[in-house]
Amino acid sequence: MTSYPHLLSPLDLGFTTLANRVLMGSMHTNLEERGDWNRVAEFYAERARGGVGLMVTGGMAPNAEGGVFPGAAGLFTPQDIAHHRLVTDRVHDAGGRIAMQILHAGRYAYGPDCVAPSAVKSPISPFAPRALDEAGIEKQIDDIAIAAVRAREAGYDGVEIMGSEGYFLNQFLVTHTNRREDRWGGSYENRMRLPVEVMRRVRAAVGRDFIVIFRLSMIDLVPNGSTHDEVVQLARAIEAAGADILNTGIGWHEARVPTIATSVPRAGFAWVTKKLMGKVGIPVITSNRINTPEVAEGLLAGGCADMVSLARPFLADPEFVNKARAGRPDLIAPCIACNQACLDHTFGGKVSSCLVNPRAGHETELVPVPTDAPKRVAVVGAGPAGLSAAITAAQRGHAVTLFDRAGEIGGQLNMARRVPGKEEFHGLVDWFAAMLAETGVTLRLGVEATPDALEGFDTVVVATGVTPRDPGIPGQDHPSVLSYVDVLRDGAPVGGRVAIVGAGGIGFDVAEFLVTGESPTLDLPEWLREWGVTDPETARAGLAPDGPQPEPPVREVVLLQRKAEKPGKRLGKTTGWIHRAALLMKGVQMKAGVNYERIDDAGLHISYGAARERPEVIACDTVVLCSGQESARGLADALGARGVACHVIGGADVAAELDAKRAIDQGVRLAAGL
Ligand code: NAP
Ligand code: SF4
Repeated sequence: MTSYPHLLSPLDLGFTTLANRVLMGSMHTNLEERGDWNRVAEFYAERARGGVGLMVTGGMAPNAEGGVFPGAAGLFTPQDIAHHRLVTDRVHDAGGRIAMQILHAGRYAYGPDCVAPSAVKSPISPFAPRALDEAGIEKQIDDIAIAAVRAREAGYDGVEIMGSEGYFLNQFLVTHTNRREDRWGGSYENRMRLPVEVMRRVRAAVGRDFIVIFRLSMIDLVPNGSTHDEVVQLARAIEAAGADILNTGIGWHEARVPTIATSVPRAGFAWVTKKLMGKVGIPVITSNRINTPEVAEGLLAGGCADMVSLARPFLADPEFVNKARAGRPDLIAPCIACNQACLDHTFGGKVSSCLVNPRAGHETELVPVPTDAPKRVAVVGAGPAGLSAAITAAQRGHAVTLFDRAGEIGGQLNMARRVPGKEEFHGLVDWFAAMLAETGVTLRLGVEATPDALEGFDTVVVATGVTPRDPGIPGQDHPSVLSYVDVLRDGAPVGGRVAIVGAGGIGFDVAEFLVTGESPTLDLPEWLREWGVTDPETARAGLAPDGPQPEPPVREVVLLQRKAEKPGKRLGKTTGWIHRAALLMKGVQMKAGVNYERIDDAGLHISYGAARERPEVIACDTVVLCSGQESARGLADALGARGVACHVIGGADVAAELDAKRAIDQGVRLAAGL
């Protein structure tokens, strides 16, 4: 008897039946553009073997002008079709089903040839689009229908028409981007003509027995976006035009509301999808921040949707469905919604991967095979680097002992998980604990691993992490001064007025921790109020008329850095803006280009620039030092002095720019080669 009866029940589409209610949502991997089709095929095949009901590929361009960037992949030539055939064959051999997403980016296409209903530039692109004429619109519809036919030729089980997130089809729907006065603009009937016509022509082109999903924006979260009535009207028209399934899109890419970041409550937008249930006759999929089988099952049981879409969780663990079916959800590597190795890579032109699972996107190259020469391996340090190395080595058949002087595993993750909005790190530490048990790693907590204690091991891996950097500010031994470790790990009392020295990832985290009371991530109504999201039945596009209404800050905080650049500039590409906006909403002052002169009873004394001008005192009760980290290399040096070879990974290896992504990647890769 499964714990997930709804999730694992089949979905009958009439002409075909999906094995379960789990869709792997579309993700752009950047693999197709590299031309290694074996690698693309293996990426999808691994997920097909993991038991997912249906997968949707990353967005494929229907033509050159509609690609998300110049040269974006699509089905343009017979050779393209043959390449995609490799993917669909491999997926089908693995027992899976796969649909190809057709993505026309419209004015979001990052190139000078982009086209749109009207010549209105997007705030997130430097390129002004060309307004299409009647013939141009016909061409776009034709190209999308041709792409669908070619997808069928390439062996796909269906297509998903991308009609949400502010892309081309979405751009026709709202007056902000559609200023046309012909039959494609003006009234809502006219504005929805293009998406409906695309749906109709795709269905006519591919025939009845081919899955067509339409991804529809259920809440635009941009000024002048669609009303709920318009969304329902469109959904019904899309159903009548031949769609088999409606998928949910949440927010345009230019929306100033986070929709998938880790601080978004789990399943935080499923209530929006639920509004459509009962108003159309075809299955409806809900999505965004669904990362456990429990959450997914609850949504289906609660009538929020007929199917759930999870995308990034399939980067973190391709075996999500199989492990749920086997009753081992504790072994599912959790997606922590950090975006650090997936979307930040996608937008940086790198292959999308996963912080938690470095194999994602590297399935053909990073293959930890069973060892034929088992060794006694000691790993010192149970932070992300050491944990990953220990688990991977044990999976390969080595006898692994993991030491940490702390009484718990997790290292720096234990600080991250105390930060409001980073609760997903709890699940990551729990998963590491489950995997240590599952792989039979011997855990020695509360033990200082001295060189003597490490004698007798064949291989020693040093993952002793980092120590806080000493910023050397005169007066920093003043009783008002704490380090981020005192605050985040040890819960030291902090006054009402705080100056934070250092505005890196940890400075931002400490600021969030100090201004926030109860975490809004754990309280959906509060989170929605904080970001100005409301019921789209009462307010157009779901934007609250009175805007964001954050809770008042718990403390007054000033965040400082010496560099003159904008604080937070080096945070994640797709999440930095959220951290900055969250702190600004809480009245956090950010000061850049400062010199730290001294700390005394009056507070933190600073000046600006090389000439040490404009002296200022930041009156505060507490100064928190978040001035970066240095490698903790004591053990590595001591082993070196004895001539004992060891592998040094994570922060102990290089502290600068350290994050869990690099630590885990280094741990897994090292252990894959031991
Ligand atoms: P960091 O990002 O390197 O930031 C260190 C901060 O300290 C900078 O603001 C730096 O700015 C300042 N600093 C450096 N040397 C200093 C000195 N001698 N005196 C005074 N200030 C000094 O390091 P972190 O904040 O400790 O974070 C560690 C790693 O964890 C980072 O790589 C970070 O990406 C990662 N992390 C990421 C997140 C995230 O949200 N993605 C969250 C937490 C941690 P100035 O030199 O300009 O003063
Ligand atoms: Fe999830 Fe982060 Fe992995 Fe992306 S990198 S899939 S957000 S855990």
